[in-house]
Formats: sequence, C-alpha cells, structure tokens
Amino acid sequence: MAGFFFDEALLTRGWARDVRIAVEAGLIVSIVSGGAAEPGDERHGIGVPGIANLHSHAFQRGMAGLAEIRATSADSFWTWRELMYRFVGRMTADDIEVVAAQAYVEMLETGFTRVGEFHYIHHDLTGDPYANPGELAERIAAASQATGIGLTLLPVFYAHAGFGGRAPASGQRRFVNDLDRYSQLIEASRRAVAGLEGALVGLAPHSLRAVTPRELDAVVALAGAGPIHIHIAEQTREVDECIAWCGQRPLQWLFDHAPVDRRWCLVHATHATPMEIRALADSGAVAGLCPVTEANLGDGTFNAPEFNSQNGVFGIGTDSNVLIGVSCELRQLEYAQRLALMARNVIASGDTTSTGRALFDGALRGGSQALGVTRGGLTEGGFADIVSLDAESAALAGRCGDAILDSWIFGANRSPVDCVWARGRKVVKDGRHVSRERVARRFRGAIEGLLLA
Ligand code: ZN
Repeated sequence: MAGFFFDEALLTRGWARDVRIAVEAGLIVSIVSGGAAEPGDERHGIGVPGIANLHSHAFQRGMAGLAEIRATSADSFWTWRELMYRFVGRMTADDIEVVAAQAYVEMLETGFTRVGEFHYIHHDLTGDPYANPGELAERIAAASQATGIGLTLLPVFYAHAGFGGRAPASGQRRFVNDLDRYSQLIEASRRAVAGLEGALVGLAPHSLRAVTPRELDAVVALAGAGPIHIHIAEQTREVDECIAWCGQRPLQWLFDHAPVDRRWCLVHATHATPMEIRALADSGAVAGLCPVTEANLGDGTFNAPEFNSQNGVFGIGTDSNVLIGVSCELRQLEYAQRLALMARNVIASGDTTSTGRALFDGALRGGSQALGVTRGGLTEGGFADIVSLDAESAALAGRCGDAILDSWIFGANRSPVDCVWARGRKVVKDGRHVSRERVARRFRGAIEGLLLA
C-alpha cells in the first residue's frame, strides 16, 4: 500500500484540501480529505487526474516538423498524407517501437496517463504480412510497457483507398487486411497486451473511405463491449466524396447504417451539420477531437458550442503527435472556437464558469469513456493515474481550485507538471520521465537513420 498526500486535489467530486490517496496494485483504494499525511506518504502541493489521450498514431511523432515546408501551390491534408506514406514506407519494426516509446514519454511528461493507439501499420516494408500478425502490436505494447503509459490498443481495419471499395494504393500496402486476417490481428493484439496491466483492445474501422459497408458490419460485429473508433468527416473533400458515393454526408450515413452508441468514438467529426451534431450527442458516442493536429492539417473547426448545448461528450487526442501536450490540446480547442466566433470563454457552460475546468473535465470524462476506462478521475476503485503540478511554478502563483487549471492551460510557458504516476507507478519526476535519456537516445538514432535512408 502506498500513500499520497496533496494540499489540494481535483477529485471526481471536485476540489478538496488535505487529500490522502491510498493506492494498492495500481488502484485507488481510499481517498480521505481534510485529514493528515501519514509517515512515508509522497507529499505534493497540487494533484489532478491523468488524462486519456484518445487518439494517437505514435509513429507519426518521428516526422513532426518535417511537413512544414511549402511544396506545392496547394498544400493540404492530402499532400501531407503522401509525405507520411513515404515516411512510414521506411520504418522498420524497431523504428516503430522506438518512436512510439518517445511519443509515450512525451505524453506522460505532459499529464497523459493512457493512450488510445489507433494502430494501422501491420505489415513489413514491402507490404507482406509478418510471420507473426501481432508483430507490430507487440512493438506498441513494448513501448507502453517500457514507458508505463496505459494502453488501449485499437487495431485498425483498412482495406481500400476510397469510397466504394477502391483498390488500395501502394503507399497503403502496410495497412491493408481482409476480414480473416483482421480477426487474426485482433487475436494477436489481445495476446500482445495480455501481460500489460490495465491494457485493453478495441476495434477501429479506419474510416468510411477505407472500409465498405459490408466490412464495417463485420468489424462492428466483433466489437463486444467496445471500444470502437473510426475517423470521420475530417476533411471537406471526404464529405464531398461521400456524398458523391452514397448521397449522404459521412456522419449522416454512419448514423443511418451503424449502431453508434457509447462504445463509439468518432474521431474528428469536424464537418458536421447541426442535425449531425445532435445525432452525435444523442448517441452518447465520444467526439474524438484532436485540436492541434486539426489545426496543423487545416481540417476545419468542430462546432463545439452546438455540441455542448446538446450535452455531447468530447475527449482529446494528439493524433499526428506533431506536438504533444494536455494543455496545448485543450488551449487549441478553446482558441479555435474563439477565433471562429470572435468570442471568449466558449467551451465553459452551465454551472462551470471556468474554461480550464470545463475543458479538463470534458477531456477526462470523454477520454476515459472512449478508451474503455469505467472509473476515470481520482476516485476509489479507479486507476491510480495521478499528476502533480508544481505549486511553486510562477504560472500557478497564488492560484487555487479551478484557477489552477485556467493558468496551467492558458498561462504557463513552462509546463508545471511535476510528477506523474501511471497506475500507481511513478514514471515522471521533476517533470522528466524516468527513462527520458535512454528513450531519447534510441529515438535520435532511429530518426537519424530514417532521414539518411
Ligand atoms: Zn488519426
């Protein structure tokens, strides 16, 4: 049994003072506020729950910053994707593991304690299946094990290059499976995470572009209790192509043809009509928003005020991992709304007047739901996923309660994240992951090799 004592902590029921949290086998077994520390407790000023990063393609961390050069007169998501395909075309299994570990270290250092890895590279460099269908799933599991981040592995079903079952392109050769091979992949993925404490496996039909209606039905039939993640309506071209294919927009088609419910996470959902926003909110599915990547790729802006007014559930993901951070995703989510609406404090609504608190609570709730965590936040029976913030940091001077979150998200140049415990294991200390140097050394070696190749 380990004890943690915080002068102030954000519990599921709200902020509390003098909080003692007892942890055993990675779970919170008791929380007592208004008491005293016990001998041997870890003592810190401010405690908040770790957040789930609901959407990541870890390998893309290796190309962060490499796609910011104007190459044509009309750079877009689609030209970025060509560059990404060239990059993935050179990555070995070792490279994928090393880059994932680096991404996971950076996630933990910013306060993410679980990742939803939307994992779609399955085959070798030539596109041939590995002898072990779970080869790369095992690499992701190894990166999770080495860094301590909680894992919800989402093996992706990917079969086509566009709506209507178009044959895949050569840049997609490492992603493609048929349904038989996909069920083998799911089994192999379950074996890959079997030794990982708290790990889960969900399903991910890649998008309506990459999966036919018949295949979507077959994949969803494998889902059980979920989670089920899908990319949807990220780009206007995708919406236009979907309309040309079936006469409906992607979200509209999905709600008409799939049993969308709380098990689902609809990643992006950027281009949604008010009716689609209402259907998404009513379904109980999570809107998987990836604000930094959506800004980087020029996707567009999700209609958050409309979604909030319908009590929709959202969470945040780092997606392309071009930049990794809890606070930067939440800040970008709010700032995109302010710029679009020429207004301030857009996400806060109802009783929550603090924008930071509304953003943080939303991401905590939606992220947990999307990654299959039944008890998110600091609560008895939940995972001991805890983040301490440095109460001595200038940005948090004199702050208490929700002002801590507002100032962390909007006012801190340097991250105030001090220590992070994932399922009770201390993985970040003084703002640095305990394996930061070793992981970064291997990452530098891999990237230098990839860039010379
Ligand atoms: Zn994505």
